[in-house]
Amino acid sequence: MSKATVSFLDSVSANFDKAAALSTIPPGLLTQIKVCNAVYQMYFPVKIGNEYRVIEAYRVQHSHHRMPTKGGIRYSQKVDQEEVMALASLMTYKCAIVDVPFGGAKGGVKVSPRELTSAQLQRVTRRYAMELIRKNFIGPGIDVPAPDYGTGAKEMAWIYDTYNTIKGGEIDAAGCVTGKPVSQSGINGRTEATGRGVFYALKEALSFKDDMKALGLTTGMEGKTMAIQGLGNVGYYTAKISIDEGGAKVVCVAEYEGAIYDENGIDIDKLMKYRKEKKTIVGFPGTTTLPSRKDVLNVECDILVPAALENQIRVNNAPGVKAKIIIEAANGPITSEAEKILLNKNILIIPDMYANAGGVTVSYFEWLKNLSHMRFGRMQKRFESKVYFELMTTVEKLTGKTIGAKEKAVLTKGADEIDLVRSGLEETMINSYHDIRNVMKRRKKVQDMRTAAFLYALEKIAGDYMALGIFP
Ligand code: GLU
Repeated sequence: MSKATVSFLDSVSANFDKAAALSTIPPGLLTQIKVCNAVYQMYFPVKIGNEYRVIEAYRVQHSHHRMPTKGGIRYSQKVDQEEVMALASLMTYKCAIVDVPFGGAKGGVKVSPRELTSAQLQRVTRRYAMELIRKNFIGPGIDVPAPDYGTGAKEMAWIYDTYNTIKGGEIDAAGCVTGKPVSQSGINGRTEATGRGVFYALKEALSFKDDMKALGLTTGMEGKTMAIQGLGNVGYYTAKISIDEGGAKVVCVAEYEGAIYDENGIDIDKLMKYRKEKKTIVGFPGTTTLPSRKDVLNVECDILVPAALENQIRVNNAPGVKAKIIIEAANGPITSEAEKILLNKNILIIPDMYANAGGVTVSYFEWLKNLSHMRFGRMQKRFESKVYFELMTTVEKLTGKTIGAKEKAVLTKGADEIDLVRSGLEETMINSYHDIRNVMKRRKKVQDMRTAAFLYALEKIAGDYMALGIFP
């Protein structure tokens, strides 16, 4: 990102300052909250093909007010220190908003996963994990990484295995990283978590009659048109769940090879299959290809979902945005300058630090599962099921009627891990939406949702520092 425009870190900083100016938090404490507590930059050699490549990597711990620190690891050629610092800061605010007991952190490795084989990626990942272990930058009570752009369950399994190998005998070792495969102490529902969280956030936003009326929209997701930038893990699940469970219509999708449009709605699973075969989304039957992949940001739709990278909506394309709602599935997709333009256009921006917090929320559940050494639902599932069965039988006896076998099966089902994870995630996203909205309703000077979310987070973090006795 060139310095000629606002950098990602500058944007986060400007957004922070805007909210901070409305708070009563003492300046010294605001500075303590804003700065990154620890930045670890490392270089290490990895054999790639016939040569040794020196890999640049980072782990930034933004805030130690709660431990462990938490946040994903990004693999991308664009990784630099400023980007990781911005992402680590957002994690702190995110964790505060969804009420998970972590400070924020983020990791970045400057590699392009697409250009490396699985064996090479494994070497990079294990070496990076070794560096973190050596410097005490990882551990269930220290700093807990997770997936982010360019990484997934596979990389997390390698990190866990490396940690376990070195720290043999540490009983809580599995809690050193989240987003692991389910078979490797992961949790059901983590893969879809960020996208599902975006869906719950959107559903909640769309349920407020007054708020929707002000945007010229009806309530409810059914039939709403959506444009999705990025079909990675977050974009895919946001689209899929919004269609399947919300009845939304995805009219435009963009990936790095191009953007496609169909006013009747795109079948996401068929599109994914097509992309796997053809290595592109372009040419998907029934769709038209837009001149540029960036056109996704300016198509006619109700809801725009940037689910790719930061700094996508800038001063040059913000005036052309036609959506009524933008929900930030990615971190930092709107620059602080572009945001002013969008707010003037009366667009509702549901900010990243809330909208995409479903990932870290389910990471929290996974971490708890690892510390408790037991799968959720194991203790109560059968018990609940029996109680419901007794209840059904009593109802049948009292009414003299019989409940159908199919209905009975639904009504007497005890909760599995996936049911509990989804329920915990939905509860979290709904509660946090209300917390942020209440700040907007109660504080006249707070006119946008990002500032409200920031303010809510800042006051919570300041409260923690004060309770710790670090600040008066
Ligand atoms: N990388 C994700 C994020 O940006 C998840 C972080 C986590 O689960 O710790 O929120």
